[in-house]
Amino acid sequence: MKKTDFICAIGKELNIINTGDWKVYPPVIDQEKCKKCGLCLLYCPTNSVKHEDGKYIIHLEFCKGCGVCIHECPANSIEFKKGE
Ligand code: SF4
Ligand code: SF4
Repeated sequence: MKKTDFICAIGKELNIINTGDWKVYPPVIDQEKCKKCGLCLLYCPTNSVKHEDGKYIIHLEFCKGCGVCIHECPANSIEFKKGE
């Protein structure tokens, strides 16, 4: 079966496809600057941001690198990590 057979939310939830492979750069949260407002979690279209152990964490295996979280973060605490 091809990967493209599972480009859907169900495929993602079942961990059948690694949608994170599609991004160019990974977004990284600076935990020192994060205000813990939760907007990145709220607006992420792929549900890749989780609230774990008091921190907002981006699960890169599902993140597509769209940059919505970077745009919405009021503390400018998320950046694309480039050049690695
Ligand atoms: S870059 Fe897009 S997909 Fe990745 S965590 Fe941010 S909003 Fe979600
Ligand atoms: S939107 Fe920015 S400040 Fe708010 S929880 Fe996410 S990383 Fe932290």
